[in-house]
Amino acid sequence: VVASMAHLQEEKMRLQEELMGLREKLAARENEELSRSLQLQSQVEALKAKLLEQAQEISRLRSELGGTDAEKHRVLLAAENERLRQEMKTFEGELLELRRQRQATPCQDCAHLQENTELQERLSQLQQEAEEARAKLAELDLEVQQKTNRLAEVELRLKDSLAERAEEEERLSRRLRDSQETIASLKSQPQQIKYIIKTVEVESAKAKQALCESQSRNQYLQEQVGMQRQVLKEMEQQLQSSQKTVAQLRAQMVMYEAELERAHGQMLEEMQAMEEEKNQAIEEAFSRAQVEMKAVHENLAGVRTNLLTLQPALRTLTHDYNSLKRQVRDFPLLLQEALRNARAEISQAIEEVHSTNRELLRKYRRELQLRKKCHNELVRLKGNIRVFGRVRPITKEDGEGPEAANAVTFDADDDAILHLLHKGKQVSFELDKVFPPQASQEEVFQEVQALVTSCIDGYNVCIFAYGQTGAGKTYTMEGTAANPGINQRALQLLFSEVRGKEADWDYAISVSAAEIYNESLRDLLGKEPQEKLEIKLCPDGSGQLYVPGLTEFKVQSVEDINKVFEFGHVNRATECTNLNEHSSRSHALLIVTVRGLDRSTGLRTTGKLNLVDLAGSERVGRSGAEGNRLREAQHINKSLSALGDVIYALRSRQGHVPFRNSKLTYLLQDSLSGDSKTLMMVQVSPAEKNSSETLCSLKFAERVRSVELGPVSRKADLASWPSQEQLELTLGLCHISSPQGDSPGTSVPSSRGHAAPSPGQLSSRSASIRRKLQTSG
Ligand code: ADP
Ligand code: MG
Repeated sequence: VVASMAHLQEEKMRLQEELMGLREKLAARENEELSRSLQLQSQVEALKAKLLEQAQEISRLRSELGGTDAEKHRVLLAAENERLRQEMKTFEGELLELRRQRQATPCQDCAHLQENTELQERLSQLQQEAEEARAKLAELDLEVQQKTNRLAEVELRLKDSLAERAEEEERLSRRLRDSQETIASLKSQPQQIKYIIKTVEVESAKAKQALCESQSRNQYLQEQVGMQRQVLKEMEQQLQSSQKTVAQLRAQMVMYEAELERAHGQMLEEMQAMEEEKNQAIEEAFSRAQVEMKAVHENLAGVRTNLLTLQPALRTLTHDYNSLKRQVRDFPLLLQEALRNARAEISQAIEEVHSTNRELLRKYRRELQLRKKCHNELVRLKGNIRVFGRVRPITKEDGEGPEAANAVTFDADDDAILHLLHKGKQVSFELDKVFPPQASQEEVFQEVQALVTSCIDGYNVCIFAYGQTGAGKTYTMEGTAANPGINQRALQLLFSEVRGKEADWDYAISVSAAEIYNESLRDLLGKEPQEKLEIKLCPDGSGQLYVPGLTEFKVQSVEDINKVFEFGHVNRATECTNLNEHSSRSHALLIVTVRGLDRSTGLRTTGKLNLVDLAGSERVGRSGAEGNRLREAQHINKSLSALGDVIYALRSRQGHVPFRNSKLTYLLQDSLSGDSKTLMMVQVSPAEKNSSETLCSLKFAERVRSVELGPVSRKADLASWPSQEQLELTLGLCHISSPQGDSPGTSVPSSRGHAAPSPGQLSSRSASIRRKLQTSG
């Protein structure tokens, strides 16, 4: 379904792309046509404007010149104009048609526009020149006018002065005439005057004075006449000069007129030339326009042919477009139909998957339960309590010589059997598994890891390291930095297991570290490690135990674990003067809690992994032990015996398990009872000098392991559990030894009040050992 949907989607995309391409093509065509028609329109527009201009120019020139030559031109130009107008109309018609058909042809950019502008420029230049000439003419006219006016003025003034002069002449001549008349009249009367003079001379001085006066007057008059004559002469001169000026002016006027005539002629000539030039320009423009028109005609023809070829293409395109449109219109319906079908199919498939899943989940849960049941059954068959032995290699500390000789040998065919040479006798033991000195930490852990992982499933697990000091308990549990032991490997495994289940489960891993010394419990991760902690019953009535104040750290990585271990070590070391000694006399506990939540079912699980590095199991010599040492030894002995009792009671399914006999068993009660799993790792030294302690440790191991289960013996078994010393004495193998040596001494009395085993039971156990020894050769 998904494939078909994808195919449909693809098909749709392809169609849409095709449609888009066609649309683009169509749009491009339309644009092209539009631009072409615009070009044509602008061309026609330009031609129109040119024609209009030419018509205007002609009319203007005609009105200016009014020449007869221009008349002919005008007629011609009018006819031409008319023709051009008609052509333009036809062009317009064609353009309209073109637009209607939305088709056009490409048109080259015409050069005549430029030429037209050039012509126009020239024309305007000529017009300007004519204008200038006209202005010059007007100027000259004005000058002539001015000069004529001035001439008229001068003439008028001349006339006036002439009239004045004539008047003055008249007046002067009249006076002259009067004077001459007077003189003549005076001359005609000489005697009388003489007489008078005589009379005057004779008669009086008065007459003489009168005569003098007359004479002076006469003199004055004569002077006047002379002056008048002078004036007259001047006037005549003036008249002459005026006449000369008039003549000059007249000559000038004639000259001006000639010049005017010449200028007029020149102007006319220029006008003529301009007219000719204009006509020539018009002719040129006309011829060019004709050529262009021809080109336009040709273009038009090309466009027409193009149009004819484009029309069928457009028709097919339109057809294609319509069919595509139809397809696109129908496509959503088709797609919806397909989608609906696909959805239905998918939901059906999902439903099927769901039901299958439900079925699978149901089966898975059933299988899980079955598995757990089988596992429990297997564990029950194997026994919840398993005992391993580990022999450390001979070290430098063991020294040299016969004391450091190897006293432990192994069975080549059975990795559960170990032989100890003790005091010249070989004693054999059978455990669940024995690790020889060369066994690596990894090999040891491989045997342990199934227990560790069951913690994730919600089981409580205890792993104890038992043995004398220096037998390798700490090495097995903690290991070295380069070669870590069970503690670190277990946590690492838990992390990786939890990560593997991350898809369905949420897990939280936390750790606590505690120490039991002289029957008091201390928190190794707490802020106050010296504080003694109490074990209490949960107040919720569940019967569960808990330690108020015990610090719990959440860990998520190896780094976190290392930090926690380091912190625990530091706390432990600060509380004692000699860590080695102290740690050999106290139990160190690492408690790992794994809490899980199944996200799908909401199921919660809690598993506890208790990793216990026990105190040294060696017996402290009674004679040498006093005070603190004695108290420590008693506490250790008591708690180890109590552990043995509890394990025994558990394995033999006693009704009552004495958890409360020691802090250790009480604290681990939850992790020892029910379907919890316990591993006792018994550590032994192979050195000859430690053979006595090795023997005791192995006996403890075998005892823990070899408890026979049986409904009848349940109650009796608890009562018949022998103390370490009793067992050793019965078997005739026990030696009382110091922690590191085999020096004889007495063991610390057991704090447990068990009754001695019945001889029958003991003999049956020893018989079973013997039987096994025989089978293993
Ligand atoms: P315990 O804790 O029982 O007193 P240790 O773990 O301290 O004993 O071991 C004593 C010494 O023996 C240490 O130096 C340790 O490194 C060494 N040792 C113990 N077991 C082994 C082993 N399997 N391989 C190598 N060395 C070991
Ligand atoms: Mg140790």
